[in-house]
Amino acid sequence: MIFGPRIELKSPAQLRSMRRAGLVTRAALDAARRTAVPGATTAEVDAAAEAVIAEAGARSNFKGYQGFPAVLCISVNEEIVHGIPGARVLEPGDLVSIDGGAIVDGLHGDSAFTMVIGGDELGSATDRALSAATEAAMWAGIAAFATGTRVSDIGDAIDDHVTEHAPDFGLVEEFTGHGIGSAMHMPPEVLNYRARSNGPRIKPGMCLAIEPMLTAGSPESRTLDDDWTVVTVDGSRASHWEHSVARHEGGVWVLTAEDGGAAGLAPYGITPVPVD
Ligand code: MG
Ligand code: MG
Repeated sequence: MIFGPRIELKSPAQLRSMRRAGLVTRAALDAARRTAVPGATTAEVDAAAEAVIAEAGARSNFKGYQGFPAVLCISVNEEIVHGIPGARVLEPGDLVSIDGGAIVDGLHGDSAFTMVIGGDELGSATDRALSAATEAAMWAGIAAFATGTRVSDIGDAIDDHVTEHAPDFGLVEEFTGHGIGSAMHMPPEVLNYRARSNGPRIKPGMCLAIEPMLTAGSPESRTLDDDWTVVTVDGSRASHWEHSVARHEGGVWVLTAEDGGAAGLAPYGITPVPVD
C-alpha cells in the first residue's frame, strides 16, 4: 500500500497536456497493433511504437524505467505483464498484451490492450472471452471512477464485474492501477479487487490508470529470471487492459482513448466530457 503522499490534482492546462500524452500513447499502441502480425518479432512491434513516439516529439516513459529496455511491455500467452520485447516471433493465435506510454510536456500517458495475433477468429473461444472480460472489467472500473466518490469504488466495480460475468477467470491482485501525471506511477494505488478500506476521495483533477488483469486459470503469478516478465504459475493465459482516465469538473474523459471513452462508457449511460 502507498500511504501518505499527496495525490496530484491537475489544472485544466495540465489536463490538456495529459490528453496530448494520452493521444501519443494511443497512436503508439495503434502502430504496435498494426505491426503485431504472424511472423513479426516483438522487437519489431516495439520499434513501431518507438517511431511514433519519436515522430510526435514525445518521450517514452517505459524505456529506462528501472532499467527497462523497451518502449512497450509485450506479454505473450501465459505472460501477464512486463514482458520484454525481443527476438520472439509472434504466431497465429497467440494472445498478446501490449502496454506502453508516452510523456508530453512532462505529463504521462499509460495504456494497454490485448489482441489475438492474426485476428480474433484465430483465437480460442476461451482467449477471446478472457480478453473481452478483462476489457469489460476495465470499463466497469472506469465507469465507477466517473460516478463514484472513493477510489475504492473502482476496485469494487472491477471485482463485482468479474464475479458476476466471468467467475471462472482469475483476478490478479499482485498488480494494481495507479495515479498518473508528472510521473507514471503516483499515489493513489488503484486496487483491482474489493478491499476493506475505503480509499481516498475522488476529486476533480484526479488522473488514474485503471488496469485489471485476468487469467484463464489461477491468478497466482511469478516473475521470471529476467526480473521483469510476470507469468501465471499454472501456465494459463492472461489478459491486461488499461486506460489513463481524468476526472474533472465537467465529468470524466478517457485520455488514452480516441473517443474519450464514449463507446466504452455508453452501456453505463455515461457521456464523457473532453478536457480541452
Ligand atoms: Mg501500463
Ligand atoms: Mg499502468
